[in-house]
Amino acid sequence: MAPNCLSIALAGNPNSGKTTIFNHITGTRQKVGNWPGVTVEKKEGTIHKYGYELRIIDLPGTYSLTPFSIEEIVARDFILESTPDVVIDIIDASNLERSLYLATQLRELDCRVLFALNMADLARERGIKIDADKLSELLDLPVVFTVGNRNEGIDDLLKKAIELAESPTEISRRRRVKYTKDIEIAIDRVRRRLSDVVGDGPYNPRWTAIKLLENDSVVRDRVADATGDRAADLMTAVAQERLTLRELYDDDPEIVMTDERYGFIAGIIKEVVTTSTRRRVDMSRNIDLVLTNRFVGFPIFIFFIWMMFQVTFTVGAYPMEWIESGVGLLSRLLGAILPEGILRAFVLDGVIAGVGSVIVFLPNILILFFFIAIFEDTGYMARAAFLMDKIMHLIGLHGKSFIPMLMGFGCNVPAVMAARTLESEKDRILTILITPFMSCSAKLPVYIILAGAFFGARAGTVIFGIYMTGIVLSIITGRLFRTVLLRGADAPFVMELPPYRAPTFKSLVIHMWDRSKMFLKKMTGVILVGSMVVWGLSAFPRNIDYDMDYSGRIEALKAAYGTTLANAEPGERDPILRERKERIEDLQRARQAEHAEKSYMGRLGKFLAPVFEPLGIDWRGSVAIVTGFVAKEIVVSTLGILHAVDEGREVLKETLKTTGMTPLSALSMMIFILLYVPCLATVAAIRRETGSSGWMVFNIVYSTTLAWVASFCVYQTGQLLGYGV
Ligand code: GDP
Ligand code: MG
Repeated sequence: MAPNCLSIALAGNPNSGKTTIFNHITGTRQKVGNWPGVTVEKKEGTIHKYGYELRIIDLPGTYSLTPFSIEEIVARDFILESTPDVVIDIIDASNLERSLYLATQLRELDCRVLFALNMADLARERGIKIDADKLSELLDLPVVFTVGNRNEGIDDLLKKAIELAESPTEISRRRRVKYTKDIEIAIDRVRRRLSDVVGDGPYNPRWTAIKLLENDSVVRDRVADATGDRAADLMTAVAQERLTLRELYDDDPEIVMTDERYGFIAGIIKEVVTTSTRRRVDMSRNIDLVLTNRFVGFPIFIFFIWMMFQVTFTVGAYPMEWIESGVGLLSRLLGAILPEGILRAFVLDGVIAGVGSVIVFLPNILILFFFIAIFEDTGYMARAAFLMDKIMHLIGLHGKSFIPMLMGFGCNVPAVMAARTLESEKDRILTILITPFMSCSAKLPVYIILAGAFFGARAGTVIFGIYMTGIVLSIITGRLFRTVLLRGADAPFVMELPPYRAPTFKSLVIHMWDRSKMFLKKMTGVILVGSMVVWGLSAFPRNIDYDMDYSGRIEALKAAYGTTLANAEPGERDPILRERKERIEDLQRARQAEHAEKSYMGRLGKFLAPVFEPLGIDWRGSVAIVTGFVAKEIVVSTLGILHAVDEGREVLKETLKTTGMTPLSALSMMIFILLYVPCLATVAAIRRETGSSGWMVFNIVYSTTLAWVASFCVYQTGQLLGYGV
């Protein structure tokens, strides 16, 4: 070779940008052919630069230099046999860990290696910072950042390559992977045996020894060829060393050594990569060891969900009281201003009672959405999907379908729309059909009232149980539909687990608010109108034949107390006054209740009552359920109006207890409300997203039938077991 002639080989993982860099360096002066004997493309080109004739060879892309693939053997043989002056290892800097395996193997070959940290732009974009000086120091080789597709750093790379080729330093002593003591001892022993037999050839002795210990078939054959009749002895010695190591580690030496190389790489990565992303990924991996663990992951998930409802229920109770007293104050204020009559009744009993009974749940809904925002923003939602994957496969769906379902806890409308991300149409329809069983936040007020009134301290747990019932029934439904209606296999996909992030408080609040806005919008729209309609139906007709002369009774009562008061000592008056007030209020409430019962609404309720009677739900409950089709929030306001309660939740609870409702019938009603037809907006979304009125009607019929059957079973079984009182 001419004195100023250097050969430079480009090694690297597939897609690390080798060919791109090769093209930039060689331009049009390329020769494309095949490597001898194999159909692996060989590209080389010769250029003249910096006073040198540079022969550049693009090696096949490989991840390692084991003899397992043709590409790897070709690349290795070229380095071993043709001994290029310099090997440039082109490394995908955005994927350093994976790239370094090949690098450690090149290092062991003791050739002159230089790193091109290519894709430097991508690494920067992903926030990966690589300390090139440190990397260079740790591996004792030059490092150059390059951006192959923009021809950045390539000239620098060539200069460094020439410099390295011309450097007088002894290469064999360069830093390389150090194995644990026993392995190093074995390497040493094999190396000495080897030099006894063949002197310094055919390749670098340490490397050859390592390959022999790794039982590398290509190297073994070549060493056998070179050593002739002394090969058998050498191979027996190697086999003995392998056996010793095997016993020591209880694993093949090649596996132990591979592990140690990865350990070495992990150490380098720790030293030189200092990005937040990297740390986040590592931390995520550790967190995931627990949160997606086969055994503890699921209980933790259930615990989170349970905690979410518990906090929603307990913490929400405080602001709820404040809002309630606010509504009460407003009601009394307007009551004092407005003259007795239909307008006053409309404002107080229709608007304030209707909207007021729903707006008190704003804190609960805010808290619930806050939790959902935490799950989404931290990345836990994706883990929940991952955890649910196995269970979802019971239905024949992916964990991915669980995300719309989980969102259904907030509101079914966006949940149904979220099913769009599923590729298969059948998967999408199936997910849409089972999502409404995820109890939405609008149903929560109903549970809070009913469970609160009848289950006391265990209300949180009962509500949790209701939610779980919804989940279980959606799974059963899914299984049923998958085998009967929407047959087919689920399309395979890779579950992505984004790194955990600590969400900012601001983003949580924004997400919470985005969702809660919808609730407030509903308050002023559907709920207001619905409450007014419900009130109208319960307030008319105005002229009602009462069973009792309430007005006469009230007058008589007033007169009677008037006499008692006149005769009483001044000190005894207060309790008497209180008693009078209570008795008058009782009568007024009874009148209102009878009025509601004889109103249009009452008539509708009485008409429906036979359908709901086997479920333990009275005519008021029936009406509330019917009005709930418009929006589930209206259920509570209807109950409020029908029980003539406008003073708030506590009174409504008390009143419910006096109208013959029992814990069992409350449970039955909660189950019905959990399962029956979703609200108008959701039904519309189902039609839109499935593109068919057929599926919409199917959903309405199926869910309502299921609700009836489930409530029936609960109520009747409960009665048989004696819980009916
Ligand atoms: P090879 O398999 O190693 O030969 O890789 P190629 O040279 O074929 O490059 C793979 C892809 O990476 C091509 O689309 C290149 O345009 C692109 N690429 C190469 N170097 C860079 C780089 O530094 N930054 C970015 N963003 N892309 C690059
Ligand atoms: Mg290529």
